[in-house]
Amino acid sequence: MSGKKERNKERREKRLQEISLLRTIPYSDHQRWWSQETVAVVTGANRGIGFEIARQLAGHGLTVILTSRNISVGIEATKALQEGGFSYDVHQLDILDGESISAFVEWIKQKYGGIDILVNNAGVNYNLGFDNSVEFARQVVDTNYYGTKNMIKAMIPVMKPSAAGARIVNVSSRLGRLNGRRNRIQDATLREKLTNLETLSEELIGRTVSRFLQQVEDETWQSGGWPQTFTDYSVSKLAVNAYTRLVAKELCDRPQGEKIYINCYCPGWVKTAMTGWAGNISPEVAADTGVWLSLLSDQAITGKFFAERREINF
Ligand code: NDP
Repeated sequence: MSGKKERNKERREKRLQEISLLRTIPYSDHQRWWSQETVAVVTGANRGIGFEIARQLAGHGLTVILTSRNISVGIEATKALQEGGFSYDVHQLDILDGESISAFVEWIKQKYGGIDILVNNAGVNYNLGFDNSVEFARQVVDTNYYGTKNMIKAMIPVMKPSAAGARIVNVSSRLGRLNGRRNRIQDATLREKLTNLETLSEELIGRTVSRFLQQVEDETWQSGGWPQTFTDYSVSKLAVNAYTRLVAKELCDRPQGEKIYINCYCPGWVKTAMTGWAGNISPEVAADTGVWLSLLSDQAITGKFFAERREINF
């Protein structure tokens, strides 16, 4: 291994050790704004990173609602979590199915009155290793971007007013960075429009993903200047990141007591079904930043992108 690679590896291992340590430090009483009455919803929580986020949030004493598109699988996952001694609730939720979302919202209203935290974790990716097929591009964009957006729109009206503010955390990916050194959209004007909050709009994000999907259909996407790695997935997460900033801007005028903070994060490359268990970190470590963002006591943080508890550029 070259000197540079070795130094990078050492730095990464040190950082992972720091995060493991941070995870074990209990929050002090003055930081703890939540209680068992605080309700957190996690999408796609039947396995992988979502399952871990649910487990860790319950470990901090919140009421966690694990959601799963297949209810039997969700119930099994909940049973496994209950063995840890914490209490969970479970409900069916397919983020692509309007009726499933409506039924979930009604159930939340009746049983809990509202929620405090929404973790949009559910997602799909159909490529592994060096593959870059766009066979399932529509499914990827629909689930990762439109599914996340569906949930944000449906849940904002049931987010409870509180002094600490409600929170939305979107599990995203560095692959969707607009201005990263690699894997970015080639069109500098489009990048600028998506970066600038004055020009960023839901319509622009929608137009961008639709153009990509149209090019997939026309088989011209390869010369379209899109990110080169896991193209469909990167486009979908780029849209999630842009939408996070947009919603943060729209929500920032809410009065004190009705604040909602929204951020996104990249969990790293994680040993889950999504990577064929080829990642380099465990779901437990990957969940950490999502849990931390859900529980932040610094209320001013919104519209940001994080990795390993550190802010990174979009
Ligand atoms: P998994 O494949 O293990 O889990 C994905 C979860 O999303 C499953 O519970 C799955 O349900 C659920 N899901 C998919 N589609 C829907 C839907 N329409 N409605 C409801 N739930 C759905 O993946 P990970 O745990 O690795 O991924 C979790 C998140 O982390 C995703 O958003 C992913 O993009 C992101 N991420 C993951 C990385 C990694 O290295 N693993 C890297 C960067 C980001 P079901 O079991 O029914 O399929």
